[in-house]
Amino acid sequence: SVVVVGAVNSDLIVHVPRIAAPGSTVIATGSATGPGGKGGNQAAAVARLGGSCALIARVGPDFDPASLSCVDLSRVVADPAPTGLAVVLVDAAGENAITVVPGANANLSPADIGPLTGAGVVLASLEVPLPAVAEAAARAAAAGWTFVLNPAPAVQLPDLLLRQTDVLVPNEHELAVLGSPQSLLAAGAGAVVVTLGAAGCRIHRPSGTVTIPGVRVATVDTTGAGDAFCGALAWALDSGRPLDEAARLACAAGALATTAVGARTAHPTAAELTALVR
Ligand code: ADP
Repeated sequence: SVVVVGAVNSDLIVHVPRIAAPGSTVIATGSATGPGGKGGNQAAAVARLGGSCALIARVGPDFDPASLSCVDLSRVVADPAPTGLAVVLVDAAGENAITVVPGANANLSPADIGPLTGAGVVLASLEVPLPAVAEAAARAAAAGWTFVLNPAPAVQLPDLLLRQTDVLVPNEHELAVLGSPQSLLAAGAGAVVVTLGAAGCRIHRPSGTVTIPGVRVATVDTTGAGDAFCGALAWALDSGRPLDEAARLACAAGALATTAVGARTAHPTAAELTALVR
């Protein structure tokens, strides 16, 4: 099974002609709300693929469990602080400026992680405190689970965490903060899968580098592409597929996720994925 550790947010997307300069006011042309957060988005992607998925997260009293139907929420902790909030300003050119209020996510602690039994994949991201992620990595290592880390937003990673990471999945911006794939492998990461937007991804392993080409689709909104990629990668690894095949499926999932507006609206099913990847 897949256990996702990460943030749950509500997203407020505000469309503006231009992003307001400090001290000035801009009238929006529209707005929308929707569920978000890397943990929530990634768990939703796994569940959409039909995978058995549990989420470890903290949410506030305002959380709507219907936003994560088909995800096992029994390990989600109710926190007195409100659910995380992401305010996303999008200007006429499609550029964005994002402010995140961590809320309940800031209180996720090592004690919230709990035991891992059986076999599976832990998928973690960094919109929650690093000690909780480090605990998840340590428990995965001890239980023989595969640990996949999406280092977003990027911070310098402790060597112990890198050594306990089987697959590190940064995008190009995050990689610039983390260091070269070679240095990350030298520090002990098992593999580094760099996502390259429309160009697909590149798998770096001690044995060499493989590029998986992108899948051409009619892209309308790239929000959540990385989360769809990570969710599909974890799902495919959990089903026993080798990393190259999992990355091929993940590229297709990331591409399909860009074909509709919103972070979770276009997550593919397993049938849709396998139809695209032969
Ligand atoms: P992030 O969403 O974290 O910025 P990327 O932009 O690298 O990450 O996208 C993640 C993955 O989603 C890519 O590896 C690719 O497989 C897919 N993807 C993203 N944008 C496109 C696109 N325009 N066309 C096709 N696939 C895309």
